[in-house]
Order: sequence, then C-alpha cells, then structure tokens
Amino acid sequence: MPEIYKRPIEDLDLDGRRLLIRVDFNVPIANGNVGDDTRIRASLPTIHYALDHGATVVLASHLGRPKGRPRPELTLKPVATRLSTLLDRPVKFAADCIGETAQNAVAAAEAGDIVLLENLRFHTGEEQNDEQFSAQLASLADVYVNDAFGAAHRAHSSTVGVVPRVDDAAAGLLMAAELHHLGSLLAAPDRPFVAILGGSKVSEKLAVVENLIGQVDTLLIGGAMAYTFFSARGYPTGLSLVEPDLLEATRQIERSASEQGVRLVLPTDHLVADRLKAGARYDTIDVQDPAIEQRLGLDIGPCTSAGYANDIKAAQTVIWNGPMGVFEINEFASGTLTVARAVAAAEATTVIGGGDSIAAVSKAGVTDAISHISTGGGASLEFLGGRTLPGVAVLPDR
Ligand code: AMP
Repeated sequence: MPEIYKRPIEDLDLDGRRLLIRVDFNVPIANGNVGDDTRIRASLPTIHYALDHGATVVLASHLGRPKGRPRPELTLKPVATRLSTLLDRPVKFAADCIGETAQNAVAAAEAGDIVLLENLRFHTGEEQNDEQFSAQLASLADVYVNDAFGAAHRAHSSTVGVVPRVDDAAAGLLMAAELHHLGSLLAAPDRPFVAILGGSKVSEKLAVVENLIGQVDTLLIGGAMAYTFFSARGYPTGLSLVEPDLLEATRQIERSASEQGVRLVLPTDHLVADRLKAGARYDTIDVQDPAIEQRLGLDIGPCTSAGYANDIKAAQTVIWNGPMGVFEINEFASGTLTVARAVAAAEATTVIGGGDSIAAVSKAGVTDAISHISTGGGASLEFLGGRTLPGVAVLPDR
C-alpha cells in the first residue's frame, strides 16, 4: 500500500527548526488529572527524536468534544504536567492554540524546548479545516509531523489543512509504525480473514462495514449493532438499541455480503434483561424468541460466543473493534471476554483497535498475546476497510 511509503520523520531536517507535531493526547481526565496516559507515552519516541535532533517542539492535540468553544474541563493543561513528568523536563503550556498567546509562547521557545498548545477543538476552525485557522497553526512552525494515527481519518486543520502551509512534513514514529503494521496486513492478509465488529451504533460504523465486506471472508457482528440487523430481518428486539433509520442500510449490507460471498454472521442467542444495571436478572434466549418482550438484549449468548470463537480459531488474520455486549457490567461481559480470549489464542495475525476492545483484552489478561494493538480505533478500521485516510494521504511520499 502506498501509505507505508510516506516520508518518515528521519527524512526531515530538524536542526534549529520549529517542529509542529500533531499528537493524540485525547486521554481521560478525572478531577483535573490525567487517568490512563497510554496515548501520551505512545508519543514519547517521536518527541525524544525531535529533541535529540535539535528541534523546538510544538505539540498540538484535541481532547474530547468541546464543539468549538473553550471548556475548562477539557483543557490540555493536566497533560502538560504529566508529559513533563514523563520526559523529566519542563513543558510550557500555551493557553490558546492560535493567536498572540500561541505566537508568544513559541517565539520564546528555543531548540530543545517543548510547548504544548491548548485544545485545538476550542476553535470551530479545527474541525471545519478552516483556511485561516490552518494558516494560523502553520505560522507556529517551519516543519510538521503527524503522529496522531487515531485522528488521521479526520480531514481537520491540524491533520490536513496545515500540511501544504509548512516547508516540509512527514509521519512520526508512531504513525509510521501503525502504517507499517496495518499496511502490510492490508496488502496481503493471510486467509481466512475474519473481522469482528461490535459496539453500540451501526450508524458510526456503516461505511466501515461496507468497506470491510470488500476485504474480509467473514464478518462477525455483536453488541447493540446487531439489533438494527435483527429489526430489519423482522426479529423481535424488545427495548434493545435499534436505529430505525438504518433498517434499509443493514438490508443492503446483507445483500452486498451475500453477492460478494462474504459470511456476515449475526448472533443466534443473547442475554436479555429488564434493565441495564449490575445485578439485573437476565435470561438467555434465541434471538428470534418473542420472549424478549419489554426487555433489552445486552450480550451475545453462549452458543454465539462458542461459534464466534470457532471462526476466530480457524482464521489466519483477525481484526476486532467493539464489545459484544455491555461488558462494563459483569453479567453482560462474558461474550466480549470469550471473544478476547479467542482472539488472543488464535494462531493468526491479530489486530485490535478501539478503547473498549483494548480494555476487554486487558480485563481478560491477554494483552500480550495480540499481534498489534492500534492506537486508532476508527482510523484502523477505516484503513483496514481500504479507505485512504485524509491525514495520511496529505503527507508527502517518501
Ligand atoms: P462504541 O463506542 O460504539 O464502540 O460502543 C461501545 C459501547 O457499546 C460500550 O460501552 C458497550 O457497553 C455498548 N454496548 C455493547 N453492546 C450493547 C448492547 N447490546 N446494548 C447497549 N449497549 C451496548
């Protein structure tokens, strides 16, 4: 795939230059402190590389969904503190990502200094890929590196608009590693190639499902997503999460899978409960059983889990994104944990993306057995579905 031939950071001349690095510091914040700092750690190799090669480092990221206005609870300030601890050196925090505040912070910085800009999404221009916003960001730097694979499927200012406005651009070390792993997988996947998709909404994964049908041999569906498919087939769904606007879209997906000879597999049994709560009483029933009545389907059942585990065992390539049920509640975690263990045990190349699937393999204690854990959930799925990611496409070729 051409994506793996993007210019790497090693090809840039960084000495004495201001380098803007788009990082993915979209980390959980609780009570003003960083929770899990995996994403910050993942960016350290690129930051170290830039510092060792004489750059002034300017870091830019989004955090959460502030929708274009400053939200104090979504400030990146706690990230500056954690980053400073991890690097064991000062990190200057600029209270805005553009304008005078950002200009002054960067102007005062020298080679070897690090400036972290405030949350990009405090400005509407970021997500709109606005020209002026892109120009303002670009004015803070001579060269640019994108190390935020998890944001590369978005055509925003910091991932796309800024690139033609700097002297030179490249992929960071984390981005290059993701492109290498996922790119070689996509170029020649060993077969059978099985994709497992779960989570809450079909709407968010519709395009991905359509693309994956062109790539994989088997698509196993779980989670709340399955209920829109069930509803379209006329099965009873009770109070389960169904997206009524997407019934026709799911029928189209089933048709296109069958036309292309792809096995699209839906659960055959499930756990139904009258409330979404720990300790809720539940029954295991067939997915066509009207006994669901006024209850919700919250996990795939044991027959489905066993069948999915068999498909995973027979696979040579497996990608997984999204839980099979409400795995945050123990009663409804077993389908997701069974899939996690099956993926870990498979003698296949296995790739996991998305926070929930990563949490599930960690809960099952099998993280080390996965071939590649992608830092980008949505981005990895879109990439493996064959879609060109805008934030990757815009980077110069090697
Ligand atoms: P997503 O962010 O779309 O990957 O969805 C992840 C969320 O989907 C998790 O928080 C799960 O609890 C939730 N989920 C999975 N299965 C179901 C289900 N059957 N009903 C409701 N929520 C579900």
